[in-house]
Parts: sequence; C-alpha cells; structure tokens
Amino acid sequence: MSEDRLKRELAAAGHVFESDTDSEVVAHLIEAGLNAGLDPLAALKSALRFREAAYRVLLAIAAGTEPVESDLLEVNRLVKKAQVQLELVPVAGHYHLSWRKTGAGPEQILWRLARAMAELMTSDALLTVRVCAGEACGWLFLDKSRNHLRRWCSMSDCGNRAKAREFYKRARSA
Ligand SMILES: [Zn+2]
Repeated sequence: MSEDRLKRELAAAGHVFESDTDSEVVAHLIEAGLNAGLDPLAALKSALRFREAAYRVLLAIAAGTEPVESDLLEVNRLVKKAQVQLELVPVAGHYHLSWRKTGAGPEQILWRLARAMAELMTSDALLTVRVCAGEACGWLFLDKSRNHLRRWCSMSDCGNRAKAREFYKRARSA
C-alpha cells in the first residue's frame, strides 16, 4: 500500500494527517451500503467506533504511553475481520495481497482502514506519530521532518495561526 493511500485512509480513521476526508468516507460508506443493499447505518456506526478507538490508540502512542486495552481490542476487532478478506492475486509475475471481491459491502472501507492502521502500528513510522500543537486542533500527523521537530498538522493552518498569535503577543509586550 502506498504511503499516500495509507495517509488518506488513516485520515478518515481519526482526523489523522492533513486531509479532511471524513465526509467523503461517510458518503462512500452510505453509497456502498445502499448499492449492496446492506445496512449502511451499522457500517457507519462501526466506522465511527473504530475511528475513535484508533485515534485514542495513536494519541497514547504519541504521548509515549500504552493505549487503553479496550481501544486496542476495538482496533483489533476490525484488523482481524479485515485479515480474512485478503487473498493472493497474480499480477505480472508477482503476487499481491488483494481484497476479496465477494462480500464487498460498506464494510470494505472499514477493512482498508483497519489494514492501514495495522501497517502503521507495525512500521517505524509509528515512532513519528505526533499530536498537533495547534490550539483545539488535536489532529495527528506523521513527523517526516529531518530534525523531527515538526509541531503542527499543517503549516498553512495551525502553524500560521500559532505564529500570528506569537507575533501579537510579542507586539503587545513590546
Ligand atoms: Zn493542527
């Protein structure tokens, strides 16, 4: 899975990274559910539960603490479900792990989120998960900066706001 896709899918899981794709994922969930004649509300509820749990797990890890067991259980519940949906498919002389075509309902989006989360949790990138220092932001991001001192989810958003606040504070006290 490419890193971009990982980012996108995790963004939906818990306000992670820079893109705000929640509404898009919700729309996809509902559409997929309606198309498959399945219960989109159940999938949506499951997505929100997973999202909250995944967010708290990553928040704990970013803070250097152990995630709460019930949150890890919730994440694992979906990781396990996702795992059985994968199969090897030949692609140009190689094999890829691909999602099974059968039974693809609205849950398929959840499996992708769960797998993206599992890949992050088992990679070195986990050590670079940070919480944005922006006031009332709370977004998570991967700090890929060379000195690992990145503080904001996005420089153009939280970063600029913080800089502006600093500027006015200094101007007032001058
Ligand atoms: Zn932020």
